Amino acid sequence: MYNIKGYLDACTVSEAIELLAQNPNLRIIAGGTDVLIKMQHGQFQEAELLSIRTLESMADIKKLEDGTMIIGALATFSQIFNDPIIQAEIPALAEAAVSMGGPQIRNIATIGGNICNGATSADSASTLFALNASLRLESKTGARLVPIREFYLGPGKVDLKPGEILTEFRVAPEDYRGFGGHYIKFAARKAMDIATLGVSVMCKVAAKTLTEVRIGLGVAGPTPLRCVEAEEFAKGQEISKDTLAQIGKLAVKSTNARTSWRASKEYREHLVEELVQRALKTAIVRAGGEELA
Ligand SMILES: Cc1cc2nc3c(=O)[nH]c(=O)nc-3n(C[C@H](O)[C@H](O)[C@H](O)COP(=O)(O)OP(=O)(O)OC[C@H]3O[C@@H](n4cnc5c(N)ncnc54)[C@H](O)[C@@H]3O)c2cc1C
Repeated sequence: MYNIKGYLDACTVSEAIELLAQNPNLRIIAGGTDVLIKMQHGQFQEAELLSIRTLESMADIKKLEDGTMIIGALATFSQIFNDPIIQAEIPALAEAAVSMGGPQIRNIATIGGNICNGATSADSASTLFALNASLRLESKTGARLVPIREFYLGPGKVDLKPGEILTEFRVAPEDYRGFGGHYIKFAARKAMDIATLGVSVMCKVAAKTLTEVRIGLGVAGPTPLRCVEAEEFAKGQEISKDTLAQIGKLAVKSTNARTSWRASKEYREHLVEELVQRALKTAIVRAGGEELA
């Protein structure tokens, strides 16, 4: 049963912001695939919901003239997976999008809801981390841009202030152009399962050398994270099996995995070491490098 005290439907972004300013207790509902499940489980009792579902301008995916990629917070995972710009420019995000839920969930769940719920398992998060994505948060007092790595404050906790709404994600051209990337979701089954580990790797190569590597992980700690030590090591290294093995080992150092019913801490660490190497292998080829035997 849903215990809903009120339900408002915003027609424009400014109306949504105005309604939030009048009543900061309003709970935003986008696709509702998290909110409604939580309500069914007894959270958010007597909730006053503010639906932003029909704000079409917040679902746009576009590339600005300067190359900045804009992904509206209300873009659904089906939309992201099928978007020609995303498929051409950031295929790792398309891979993440199609790995989440099943078709029905992907048709309604939004990328904004995926990040605002603060879950470390969010399938879009590790790729957005690897892309250095920023979030545009708007409220009655103005707008601010927050790097995704600063948005996560703890498990289920994000830097969303009362009255704020996430309108879009931004990815700067220097954060995706020239990169090859790959997302691997490891889960007990292929669909409708939460990740045991999510690994997104982006890299740039020149001749036989890695010039830049970015590693985003989900479920390797209480929030999504980047493997900074491994990334620093990778810069300038010749591409070889040995280099990849060292990157995989160093990646584990940035993690803070826990044991849950899905997997033990040790198993997750093993997955990090192995899957970082596999994702990097594919990313290298996509970045124009040679395939490692
Ligand atoms: C059967 C099922 C399978 C699932 N499988 C996966 C999976 O494989 N991978 C995965 O990552 N997730 C999965 N999920 C979780 C969920 O579908 C996703 O997290 C989804 O992206 C949430 O988006 P939503 O639009 O439905 O969010 P909502 O439920 O509408 O909102 C989620 C939270 O974000 C807030 N919010 C939403 N949009 C905004 C905004 N624009 N500004 C500010 N706050 C906002 C809401 O207030 C709420 O707190 C699954 C859920 C179900 C029910």
